[in-house]
Amino acid sequence: MDNIIEIKNATYSYTDEGISHIALNNISLNIKKGSFTVILGHNGSGKSTLAKLLNGLNTPTSGDIIVDGMNTRDEEKELEIKRKVGLVFQNPDNQLIASIVEEDVAFGPENLGLEPEKIRECVDEALKSVGMYEFRKSTPHKLSGGQKQRIAIAGIIAMSPDVLVLDEPTAMLDPKGRAEIISTLHYLNKEKNITVVLITHYMEEAENADRVIVMNDGEIINDGKPEDIFQNVKQLKEVGLDVPQTTELLYALKQKGFKVNTKALSIEDTAKEIAKALK
Ligand code: ADP
Ligand code: MG
Repeated sequence: MDNIIEIKNATYSYTDEGISHIALNNISLNIKKGSFTVILGHNGSGKSTLAKLLNGLNTPTSGDIIVDGMNTRDEEKELEIKRKVGLVFQNPDNQLIASIVEEDVAFGPENLGLEPEKIRECVDEALKSVGMYEFRKSTPHKLSGGQKQRIAIAGIIAMSPDVLVLDEPTAMLDPKGRAEIISTLHYLNKEKNITVVLITHYMEEAENADRVIVMNDGEIINDGKPEDIFQNVKQLKEVGLDVPQTTELLYALKQKGFKVNTKALSIEDTAKEIAKALK
């Protein structure tokens, strides 16, 4: 599989009152086209700084970010890169502008200068792909947090991005809203072939990812499949992260002498492990 994003020795420093502070320290990482990657890390580990490098919103202090062969330093490619890599943020209220759902989703395609008919098509398709088509005439502020965030995602999808980068999109949502967003992202990844980079605090959201990257203090400290990453209970706790509750439960049972596979992650698989051990 091709890499849609290549991060090459990227360092990013913020300068505050003349004092520079390294937020990302020499990160190298490739994101494969069509993959679903979750980035975990506690507050201040550099996740948002990294997100803003991925579509050229910021350029690295040193090193390069290559999006589908284009360097984010290349000003001529700025718009193309921004269209290829869509960013979704934490607070849906800050991302919705219009008073009617479909008008909001149309902003992006309108700015791209598409024909009205084509805009209509993009908007309808985007709303369907996040399961919000029936709300197209609604007022965003009357919707739930999860619905609003899905509208914000539709607004990006309407511009046909290759990659969706989401910076803690579920942080302000209730469990139902969180679940809606995660299943929408998996749908977009599987059915619409959109590469997903999901930044989150919630371990459970990494369950079905192809790959989990753990960040701490501006560096990548682990990178692998979710079931392998969550075996490092001690390391995760040391950097202020929890493991999924299912993993925690299986570990506790194992320590008590039950023969369970601690790599089970979903509730279903965990239940199977416990049932097997109790036989
Ligand atoms: P995360 O998203 O993982 O919480 P951030 O990327 O926001 O981490 O922050 C990484 C580091 O950079 C932190 O030490 C943070 O204080 C610092 N930082 C983030 N944004 C700014 C900014 N605008 N100015 C100065 N320092 C910043
Ligand atoms: Mg952040």
